[in-house]
Amino acid sequence: MTNPFFAAWTTPYEAPPFDLIETKDFAPAFAQALEQHVAEIAAIGDNLAAPSFHNTIAALERSGKPLRRVDMVFSQLTSAATNDDLQAVERDIVVLVARHWNSIFLDAKLFARIDTLHQQRDTLGLDPEALRVLERYHLDFVRAGAKLTDAERDRFGAIVERLATLGTQFGQNVLADEQETVFALTEAEMAGLPDFARAAAAETARDRKLNAPFAVTPSRSSVEPILHFARDRAVREKIWRAFVQRGANGNKNDNAKVIEEIVALRAEQAALLGYDSYAAYKLADSMAGTPEAARGLLEQVWEGGRTKAEADRSALQELAQAEGQTAPLEAWDWRYYAEKLRFARYDFDENALKPYLQLDAVVDAAFFVAEKLFGLTFTPRSDIVGYHPDVRVWEVSRLGQVVGLFYGDYFARAGKRSGAWMTSFREQSKLDGVQIPLIVNTCNFSKPPEGQVALLSLDEARTVFHEMGHGLHGLLSDVTYPRIAGTSVVRDFVELPSQIFKHWMEEAPVLARFTHVETGEPIPEDMLERMRAARTANSGFATVEFVSSAILDMDYHSRPMTGSVADFEKAVLASINMPREIALRHASTHFLHLFSGDGYAAGYYSYLWSEVLDADGFGAFTEAGDPFDPETAERLYTYIYSAGGKRDFAEAYRLFRGRDPQVQALLEGRGLVPAESDAA
Ligand SMILES: [Zn+2]
Repeated sequence: MTNPFFAAWTTPYEAPPFDLIETKDFAPAFAQALEQHVAEIAAIGDNLAAPSFHNTIAALERSGKPLRRVDMVFSQLTSAATNDDLQAVERDIVVLVARHWNSIFLDAKLFARIDTLHQQRDTLGLDPEALRVLERYHLDFVRAGAKLTDAERDRFGAIVERLATLGTQFGQNVLADEQETVFALTEAEMAGLPDFARAAAAETARDRKLNAPFAVTPSRSSVEPILHFARDRAVREKIWRAFVQRGANGNKNDNAKVIEEIVALRAEQAALLGYDSYAAYKLADSMAGTPEAARGLLEQVWEGGRTKAEADRSALQELAQAEGQTAPLEAWDWRYYAEKLRFARYDFDENALKPYLQLDAVVDAAFFVAEKLFGLTFTPRSDIVGYHPDVRVWEVSRLGQVVGLFYGDYFARAGKRSGAWMTSFREQSKLDGVQIPLIVNTCNFSKPPEGQVALLSLDEARTVFHEMGHGLHGLLSDVTYPRIAGTSVVRDFVELPSQIFKHWMEEAPVLARFTHVETGEPIPEDMLERMRAARTANSGFATVEFVSSAILDMDYHSRPMTGSVADFEKAVLASINMPREIALRHASTHFLHLFSGDGYAAGYYSYLWSEVLDADGFGAFTEAGDPFDPETAERLYTYIYSAGGKRDFAEAYRLFRGRDPQVQALLEGRGLVPAESDAA
C-alpha cells in the first residue's frame, strides 16, 4: 500500500507505473515533492560560495525532479482521464503549485545570484547552450516578477494563485457542459449521417444508457458529423446551438464571470510588470515580438479569407435554395451545404476517403515518415502500461539507440477534454547522463464498436500527423538542459514542427500506404486528384473561423474590456465585419486555449505565425525535388526538431531554410492568392 511516488520506478525506462497510481496518492506526493523542492531551492539561495553557473543554474536544473514526476503525470490524467475525485484534488493542487512557483520566482536571494551571473555572462566561459539557459532563466524570473517591489510582489503572487484557480474552473466548466448535455436522436433525425457517425452516436446512447437508438453530446467530435451531414435542419440547429453555447448557459458551469475576472487580473499583472497590455507582455517573449506584428499577419490573411468565404456563401445560398430551403443560410447550414458544394464542384466526397484512412494505418504512416526523414523506428511495447486501456505504448529508436517512449491515446471518452494535444511524462536531458523523453499524443476520435476498425476523416488523419510532429519535437530533442528541451520553445515557433509534418501525409509514397478497409485496394488515383483539387474548397470558412478567434484573443488581451463577455465578443466581431453565417472556431466561454491556462493566451495567432514557417519551410523539400531529400531532412533535424531552445528561433529557421520566411506559401496553401507558379 505504499505511494508509488515515494518509490523509485522499476518499470522499463522508469515509465510511470500507472497500474499502481491511485487518485489518493497525488495529494501526499505533491506535498512531499513540494517540500523537497523548497529545501533544494533554499540550499541554492543560501549557498555561501559566490554564484557560479554550476552552483546556481545547473543546480536549479537538477532540482525539483520528484515534483516534475508527479506533476506531469497529474496534468495528463486531469486532462485525459479525469473524474469527480480527481477534479476535487486538482482544484486544491493547482493553487499549491502556483503558490510554490511564485515563491521561487519572487525569491530575492535566488534572483540576486541569477542576476549576478547574468551580468557576468560574457566572462563566464559558457558554451552557447549554457549561455542560452542562463539568459532563459534570467528572463523567466524577470517575467515572473523578480524585479517587483515587496508590496507589488504580494499582489502579483495573489493574482497568480487566483488565475490558477480560475483556469481550472474554466476547463472543468466546459467539460461539464459537454458531458451533462446529451441529445437523444431518433432514426429519422439521423438521416443523412454516414455509418461511422451512426455507430458513434449509437455507442453514446448505449454508454449513457438512454432509451433511444442514438445520442450526441456538444463536444466537437460528436457535433461535426451532425453539422456536415444531418439532413434535418432543426437537428443541426439544436446541436449547433448547444455547441456554441458551451460555458454560456447561465447554469453553474457558466464561464462569463470567470472570463471577466481572468482578463482583468491579466491586465493588472501586465501593468505591474510595466507593460501596456497583457498581449504586449506575452508577445515580448515570442518570435512576433509585439501585438502589432501578430495583428499585422492576422489582418493580412483576414481580408482574403473573408472575400473567399463571401463568394462561397453566395454559392451555398444558391445550393440551399435549389434544394428547397427558403430560409436564409445560417451558421448551422454552412458545413452541410459546403459538403454538397464540394461534391458539386470537385466531385469529391470526403466520406469516400474514410474507408482508406484506418487509424492504425495513419499512425503507421506517420511512423514511416519519421523513419524516412529522421531514421526513427517504433516498436510496440504492450508490457508498458498506460493510464487507460486505450493507451498504446511504443519504444522509439534511432541509429540503434532507444531515444524515447511514445504513448498514443486516440479515442474520445468521458473524462477527456476536447481537442488534441501532445505532452510528456518526462523531458529529454543530458545533464546527468542521458534521460530519454516519455511523449504522449492525445486525440478525440470516435471509438468504433468492438471488433470494428477505427476510420478517420481527412482532417482527423491530419491531426494524427500534427500531434506526431509535436511528438517528434519531444522525441528528437538533443540538448543538455531540460529547461530548453523539445517543445520548451516560444509559442509561435512551437507549431512549426507539428504543422510542417502534416505536409508529408499528402505525398504519394505516404498516400500509397492507405488501403481500403474491406477490399485492401489503395486509394484510386482519380480520387486523389479530386482530393487535391478540392484541397482549398472551404478554406474561406476555415480562415474566417480561425482568424476571427485569433483577433478576439488579441482584443481581450490588448484593450480594456468593457461590458459583458457577450457584448465584448459581439463588438469585436462587428469591428471586423464577421460574416453572420460563420461562427468563431472557439467562442469566449469555451475558448480553452485562452482561459483554461495561459499557454495560448494572446497566443492563438501562433498557429498562423507558425503556418508562415511551415508552408514556406516545406518549400525547401519541393525545391530539392524530393519530399524526403536527405540533406534538407538533416537540416530540419539539426536546426528544428532536435534543437529545442538552443538558439534564437529566427536564426534557427534561417539555418534550416537558408533565408527568412515568406508569407506567399501560406496564402497559396489556403487558396487565398493564385499560386506563383500558375502566374504568367
Ligand atoms: Zn499543435
